[in-house]
Amino acid sequence: MEKELSFDAKILHKPYAKTDAYGALNMPIYQSAAYEFDTAESMEAAFIGKSADHTYSRITNPTVQHFESRVQSITDALSVTALNSGMAAISNIIITLAQSGSNIVTSRHLFGNTYSFFASTMAAFGVETRFCDLTNPYEVESHIDSNTCAVFLEIITNPQLEIADLKALSAITKQMGVPLIADTTIVPFCAFKAKKWGINIEIVSSTKYISGGATSLGGLIIDYGNFDWLSSPKLHTVAKGFGPAAFTVKLRKEIHRNLGAYMTPQVAYMQNLGLETLSIRYECQSGTCLELTKRLEKVGAIASVNYTGLATNKYHELSLEQFGQKPGAMFTIDLASREACFNFLNKLKIIKRATNLFDNKSLAIHPASTIFGTFTADDRKDMNVSDNTIRFSVGLESVDDLFNDIIQAL
Ligand SMILES: *Cc1c(COP(=O)(O)O)cnc(C)c1O
Repeated sequence: MEKELSFDAKILHKPYAKTDAYGALNMPIYQSAAYEFDTAESMEAAFIGKSADHTYSRITNPTVQHFESRVQSITDALSVTALNSGMAAISNIIITLAQSGSNIVTSRHLFGNTYSFFASTMAAFGVETRFCDLTNPYEVESHIDSNTCAVFLEIITNPQLEIADLKALSAITKQMGVPLIADTTIVPFCAFKAKKWGINIEIVSSTKYISGGATSLGGLIIDYGNFDWLSSPKLHTVAKGFGPAAFTVKLRKEIHRNLGAYMTPQVAYMQNLGLETLSIRYECQSGTCLELTKRLEKVGAIASVNYTGLATNKYHELSLEQFGQKPGAMFTIDLASREACFNFLNKLKIIKRATNLFDNKSLAIHPASTIFGTFTADDRKDMNVSDNTIRFSVGLESVDDLFNDIIQAL
């Protein structure tokens, strides 16, 4: 039997769907809205899905498809769909699953726009969001009923760095016939195997690690084909015809075409390049993050350092089990006050004051006054977003460069 290729080799050597006429080593940017057909018969075949030919770039595009097929081969998924942002991926998933009267079970510890999408955008269409503590499996179980269309979680929450027990959660969702949807942006698929933990649909903001260098926005929907959609009120009928592919069929044949947020070919070109160096950058950035937080723990001027890779962290054991020794390149520190945080940020020389995560450059932000700045103080308290916290995203600089910058700014 042939030996299976490594993660990187699979990405680098994924064949194109069709031989390139010029032997291009990089998948070219197929910058075309539409595609020509030789005959009316072949046109009909493509439009009704009897052939895999491209018809229109809102639906499929060769450059985007190559990006999707590379991700598909490394995740061993049933299907991958690339959208124009992480939020487009999340909204496409929820609109595929939810209908008026449905509910979503999730935590308040969510990326700000995801929270607002659930609590406000979907609420206006009669979809209820039930917030609960996802680290407490009994609470999750008690919030699920026959109208629950999904349990949604972020594998490491931002900026709280909270971790739910995926084995316990997936056992509950499987038993109750509800799909488990996970946002894995913080630890991407080079280090975290979602399928192994019973996740049914994975969503990744490819704006972050995958773009590499903050070149472009993007989002991925990864369907593992491991859920019985007969138990989904909305997908029940599709599941009778298409079985485990029901979600992908509904998404690709209806929802994503109608919402029109497919990834563009230029973005797919950039993210194809980013994907080629994902695992090496992740190794470097998460390794630096672990080393840096270990050093910062010993610095007296910092009230606390929050990174689940530290042995002192409340979630350390679960983090080790689910994400390995180096659980991503995001951490937070707490200082004495909001003023101390602002003073600190203003003095940084190397680390950039910016939002975003997992750029090649290290970044720092005060979440309470920025990402969560328009929420009320009470909301921030509910979301466990403190006025004294600074969030860091670790880039490709050396540990010394970053440590020295932080020390001089303190
Ligand atoms: C950035 C982010 C998103 C949203 O992705 P965009 O590409 O900005 O739309 C969703 N979830 C998490 C955890 C993120 O960090």
